[in-house]
Amino acid sequence: YRDCLILPGFIDCHTHYPQLQVIGAFGEQLIDWLNRYAYVTEQAFGDPECAYEAARIFLRETLRAGTTTAAVYCTVHSASVDSFFEESERLNMRNIAGKLLMDRNAPEPLLDSPQRGYDESKALINKWHGRGRQLYAITPRFAATSSAEQMEMAGALWSEHPGTYLQSHIAENRDEMTWVKRLYPERADYLDVYGHYGLLGPRAIYGHGIHLTESELQRCHETGTGIAHCPTSNFFLGSGCFDLGNAKRSSRPVRVGLASDVGAGTSLSMLQTLNEAYKAAQLNGFPLNPAQAFYLATRGSAEALYLEERIGSIAPGMEADLLVL
Ligand SMILES: [Zn+2]
Repeated sequence: YRDCLILPGFIDCHTHYPQLQVIGAFGEQLIDWLNRYAYVTEQAFGDPECAYEAARIFLRETLRAGTTTAAVYCTVHSASVDSFFEESERLNMRNIAGKLLMDRNAPEPLLDSPQRGYDESKALINKWHGRGRQLYAITPRFAATSSAEQMEMAGALWSEHPGTYLQSHIAENRDEMTWVKRLYPERADYLDVYGHYGLLGPRAIYGHGIHLTESELQRCHETGTGIAHCPTSNFFLGSGCFDLGNAKRSSRPVRVGLASDVGAGTSLSMLQTLNEAYKAAQLNGFPLNPAQAFYLATRGSAEALYLEERIGSIAPGMEADLLVL
C-alpha cells in the first residue's frame, strides 16, 4: 500500500442500525421524524431474519466507509441485538450495542416494561458483553420514552454490570427539551434527569448535547460523561449547531466523539461527517483544523468511549483495526 494512507479505523460513537433504510426521509424535525419514520421501520425488527439482514447490510456499509467500531442502537426487540452481535462477531469487529429501553410515548409494539426491559437487557449482557470483541450498552432511548421506574432500572442494571456502557440522547431539539422538562419537572435540567437515576459517568455517552448549558457541560466534564457529536443529523433535522470548540474548552474539556446518527444522519462516512463537523464548528466561530478533525474521528472518539487503550491509534499492543485510504 505504498501510495496509500494507513490509518486507525474510524470510530462512530452513535448510530442506529435499524434506521439505515429511512436515511434521508423528508421533511420533519425530531419528534415527528421519530413518529413518522423511525418508529415505523423499527417495528419489523422483532423478526430475526429481517434484523439479521439489516445488520449484515449495515455492518458491510460501515466497514466500507472505513469505520471499524461503532456504538449502535438496536430496537426494543432482543432479536435485533442478537442479530447485530452475531454479525459483528462473525466479522470480529469491536462494536458496542444494546436493546432500546422504551416503556412510554411510542407505538405499542415498540414498548417494553421496566421489568421486561431489565430482564431482557440483563440476559443480553450475560450473553454478549465481553464475548470476543463485543461490548454491551444499556440503552434507554431518551428520557421522554422511559418512565421514572424504567430510568431507575436502567441505573440499577448499569451499576450491577461494571464495564458496560450507557447510551442515550440529550438536548438535541427544542421541542424535545420542553417535553422532557414537562415530564420531569422536579429535575434541575435535562442532564440532571439522567444524573438523578445514576446514568452519568465513565462509559456513558449521550448523542447530540447541542443545547446543553454551561453547568451541564461542567457536569459532563466532572463525571467523565461523553457527548457524541452528530453534525449530519443535526443539520438534516434542523436541530442546531453543536459548539465543539466550547465543549472542548481547556478549562473543562468534555469527552466528545464523532458520530453519524444514521438514519437521521445522512452518511455512514466519518469523512463526510467531519465535512459537516467543520461547518458546524465554523458557524460557532471555531475553525476545526485537520489534525483535530482526524483526532475526533479516531483517538478522540476512542477516548469518548473509554477505549483509547485498545483502538483509535496505531501503536504496539493496540488492536490492529487498520484502514487503508
Ligand atoms: Zn440517535
